[in-house]
Amino acid sequence: MCKSEAGSTIFMREFMIVGCPICKNLQITTSKKSMKCKYCGRITNMNKLKVFYNSSSHKDALKALYQIREEKAIKIFF
Ligand SMILES: [Zn+2]
Repeated sequence: MCKSEAGSTIFMREFMIVGCPICKNLQITTSKKSMKCKYCGRITNMNKLKVFYNSSSHKDALKALYQIREEKAIKIFF
């Protein structure tokens, strides 16, 4: 079989908003395994994290992140 590369498989990147359990900062990650917090450096397994939002669009994820921050909705999650 011939190897097909770019174009044949659409790799959908997912942008997820997760909250660091240590410093409570929200951030966007694309990793499915673990998240390294850019604020405190803590690496947390993704399955221990609550995903507040996810989207294939970085722009959308960013918008949602700002919205959540504005609403301070994070307080109800922890
Ligand atoms: Zn953190």
